[in-house]
Amino acid sequence: MRKKIVAGNWKMNNDLGATRELLTDLKSRALPEGVEVIVTPTFTNLHSATEALSGSSIKVAAQNMHHSESGAYTGEISGTMLKSVGVNTVILGHSERRAYFGESNALLAEKVNAALAQGMTIIFCFGEELDDRKKGSHFDLVKSQLSEGLFHISESDWGKIVLAYEPVWAIGTGETASPEQAQEMHDFIRRTISEAYSDAVAQGVSILYGGSVKPNNAAEIFGKPDVDGGLIGGASLKAHDFMQIVNAFS
Ligand code: PEP
Repeated sequence: MRKKIVAGNWKMNNDLGATRELLTDLKSRALPEGVEVIVTPTFTNLHSATEALSGSSIKVAAQNMHHSESGAYTGEISGTMLKSVGVNTVILGHSERRAYFGESNALLAEKVNAALAQGMTIIFCFGEELDDRKKGSHFDLVKSQLSEGLFHISESDWGKIVLAYEPVWAIGTGETASPEQAQEMHDFIRRTISEAYSDAVAQGVSILYGGSVKPNNAAEIFGKPDVDGGLIGGASLKAHDFMQIVNAFS
C-alpha cells in the first residue's frame, strides 16, 4: 500500500534559530491522519531537529549524502553519520545537486547503494529540463534517469524508495506542471517500473510531485490518481503554507 507523503525541502535556508522556530510552529499543529510529513533541515541542524521533533510524527530527512561510509572526502557527510543523529531518510538526485554539483546517474546509483546498505529510506528525485519537454524527449529522459540511477536495486529494496518527479522548469519558478501533465508522467513512471520489475512494485511505490506546489494548487495536483503527495521547496519554509499543503488531500 503506497503512502501519502508531503516532504519539505528546506535547501540551504534557516540557521539554527530559524530552524527551531519553524519546527516548534510545525510541532504545535495538528496533522491529518494518513499523511506522512517530512522536513529536511540543513546538515548542521539535523541533530537539533530530530531532538526537537521527538514525540512528533514528523520525520527528519537529509538533503544529500556521500556514497562512502567514511574517509578522505573533505566536506562530505555519510549515511552512518546521518543515522547517528537519528536521520533515516535522505533525498538523492535533487536537480540542484545534478546541475550545480555534477551528480550523474552513475554517481546517484552509488549513493542509492550506500543509503540502502544503511537501511535508509530514499526520496529519489528526477525530472526533465524545459528543453527536453520542448523537444518531446521528457519521457525518454525520465526513463534513463530511473534506469541508470535506480533500476539496479532488487525488488525488495523498493520498500525503501519514494520517488519525486520534479520537472526542473517548475522548480522555484512559480511555473507548475498542470495536474494533467503531472498525472501523465506519474502514470508513465508506474508503467516503466511495472515493465522493469512488476505491477506490484509499480503500484506500491509512492510518487511525489515537486515544482512550485503551493496552498492554492496542491489539492488539484494531489487529487490525481498517480500523485501520492509532494516535495515542496519554497512553500515549506512557512509553517502555515506547508500545513495547508499537508492538509490538501481530499
Ligand atoms: C524543490 O526544490 O524540490 C521544489 C519543488 O521547489 P519549489 O517548491 O520551490 O518549486
